[in-house]
Amino acid sequence: MIVPGEAASIHEAARLLATGDIVAFPTETVYALGADAANADAVAKIFAAKDRPHFNPLISHAADIGLLRTEVLFDDRAELLAAHFWPGPLTLVLNKHPLARGARITNAGLPSISVRIPAHPVALVMLEEFARIGSGLVAAPSANRSNMLSPTTAQHVAESLGRRVPFILDGGRTCIGVESTIIDLTGEIARVLRPGGLALERIEALIGPCARVAPGDKPIAPGMLARHYAPKKPMRLNATHATDDEAFLLFGPATANLGGRLRLNLSESGDTVEAAANLFDHLHRLELTDVAAIAVMPIPDIGLGVAINDRLRRGATP
Ligand code: AMP
Ligand code: MG
Repeated sequence: MIVPGEAASIHEAARLLATGDIVAFPTETVYALGADAANADAVAKIFAAKDRPHFNPLISHAADIGLLRTEVLFDDRAELLAAHFWPGPLTLVLNKHPLARGARITNAGLPSISVRIPAHPVALVMLEEFARIGSGLVAAPSANRSNMLSPTTAQHVAESLGRRVPFILDGGRTCIGVESTIIDLTGEIARVLRPGGLALERIEALIGPCARVAPGDKPIAPGMLARHYAPKKPMRLNATHATDDEAFLLFGPATANLGGRLRLNLSESGDTVEAAANLFDHLHRLELTDVAAIAVMPIPDIGLGVAINDRLRRGATP
């Protein structure tokens, strides 16, 4: 059931979280499927609803950094990044606090926990209310079936999860449109586990260079699997023309007719922020058409283009 993200339904969502149920809610990145991070049975429902094959660690969300201070240990780098970018599309993987309340299933029993304060008014009010009546910590991956496209509207959630999620808070289209950037700060060298909605350049400006995870490294995050975020149709990347069987996903000013049975533009002005916001939405739309395949124009590998290219590569992997 999709319900408008108004006071009464946000209140109901917080109540459902407190009674161990799952709820889908909007964040500024993509829609999330949440459960009380301190309640193992509730978190298990997330894996079941998503058909997630393994108990991969989930991100713990809160409205208030104070709650996170007893979940994880903040070092100077984490303090700096949190002060600059929270609430916002940045997830920090930090060493677990000895008093952490999160259930083991939430972080897959790892010595670390990933945490984030999302920047969406509906999510923040829900998290605040849940902090008054429960743990205030919400474990939440994206609200879609495992390996499929991430949802950027309440309708996408309903299409992907159907009756598996009885309560979907509608907060309109998400404004960032790709998942959060994940930075691992558990060791001396900061590592980018997933490029995402916060440009790496902005993070590195504050804490210095971060290590990239090389292709072939053991995946420690599902977003690092070779195939992930995949549309149901084959994708061909860095295309300069599209065939009559293909849809063409464009980037930048549409000048000449470059083919394709139908065309959608990620950003006519060539803006990677706008393109990120449109990425999953356009792919969802193309998935619903009868074109055989999707051709995608090259996207510059700067700013949020890094996250877009990461998702496109994984989605195009057979
Ligand atoms: P999603 O499931 O789309 O919310 O993505 C969350 C990502 O964070 C997944 O790729 C997880 O594997 C990753 N992640 C969460 N917690 C940890 C952790 N403690 N260590 C490493 N990766 C994590
Ligand atoms: Mg996901």
